[in-house]
Amino acid sequence: MYRLYILDYSELLSVMKKATQEQTKEHNRNLVLKILLEHESISRAEIARITHLTRTTVSDIVADLMAGGLIEEVGLGSSLGGKSPTLLSVIDDSRCLIGLDLAPNQFSGAVVGLRGQIREMISLPVNKGVGEEALSLVTEILDRLLKIAYQPVVGIGIGTPGLVNTDSGIVINAVNLDWKNLPLAQLLQERYPFPVFVLNDSQAAAMGEYTFGKSHRNLENLIVINARHGIGAGVVINGRLFQGDGGGAGEIGHVVVVPQGGLLCRCGNHGCLETIASAQAIVKRAQQLAVPSESAPWSSFAEEITFEDVVQAFAAGDPSVCEIVLEAGRYLGHAISGLVGMLNIQKIVLIGDMTRFGEVWLAAIQETMARTSLNGLAQKTQIEIGGLGGNAVVLGASAHLLSDYSLLFKR
Ligand SMILES: [Zn+2]
Repeated sequence: MYRLYILDYSELLSVMKKATQEQTKEHNRNLVLKILLEHESISRAEIARITHLTRTTVSDIVADLMAGGLIEEVGLGSSLGGKSPTLLSVIDDSRCLIGLDLAPNQFSGAVVGLRGQIREMISLPVNKGVGEEALSLVTEILDRLLKIAYQPVVGIGIGTPGLVNTDSGIVINAVNLDWKNLPLAQLLQERYPFPVFVLNDSQAAAMGEYTFGKSHRNLENLIVINARHGIGAGVVINGRLFQGDGGGAGEIGHVVVVPQGGLLCRCGNHGCLETIASAQAIVKRAQQLAVPSESAPWSSFAEEITFEDVVQAFAAGDPSVCEIVLEAGRYLGHAISGLVGMLNIQKIVLIGDMTRFGEVWLAAIQETMARTSLNGLAQKTQIEIGGLGGNAVVLGASAHLLSDYSLLFKR
């Protein structure tokens, strides 16, 4: 059933003008808030200079943000001749972000401030729980976090392994968790009175490094490679997460890199990057190598070898373990060449358990990337280990809530 409204031309113009004004107002407010979040403190005049907004517009927006309790005046800046300007700063705990990382062995969740400060953290072991069991672990963490979270809560961001449709909040396929077409955001939104967003974990990690990583300030583009149990990449282009047409941008872990005789992957193919360059691959290969001997007592019980054992054997200089790790680095370096050729993004950040092999592993990646990429592109590409440690996914899932500032104003 349709209703027909007849507006005369001037009425129509006035409706359109009002809508445009609202949009402009929101756009300007978001712009000012972005600048405020990027600076520890900043004056109104400086915001006006950077944004090209008039000083009156900036002052009005600042007044609104102060009234909303989001920012405060924090003292006087240095004067350029005239009166010293008043500095403004975002109040870190004026809003609360909730971020979750559904990592293979343990699920973690955190209460996070607006600048990425982790205020509370809860981690629970997964104990191979899948399906419903994994889902109830998610709600257990959220129940506990929301009891200790400060108010107001902006929303919940979840970084999960697997293929995800972030727009619909559906986990299309997460093999480890045995989730297929699970409407995770909807299920959680029925239980909690907050917006819920679901992201692939590597994509979340990219948002975490991009938003809160200290060394990537002022960058427009960034690639983050998450090398842990599995391998995935997250790609940020022009400040926005790039998810591809089907949400699977960055799924480099299941590109076959050992076409002949590669190991069986959990995706069903053989020889995926994950089967040779991930933490689980390293453990499997160390187990296969392990022959008990006096010089390598850690190998006495091959099937009991853990990632921790491999890290220790590597640190102790065990040559065969070192070779496995270097080979993993070389395969990853080659995969990165593909990204360099495709996207020419000059900053690539590595995170995840594999970064525990440090500089030696990093050097193998860098050398291979340089050797297998176009020289002019490779020279300008920087690959480094990320600064957020194991918290990149939790922080990135939280940071995703900041990609729509209007959420900060909903009470
Ligand atoms: Zn695979």
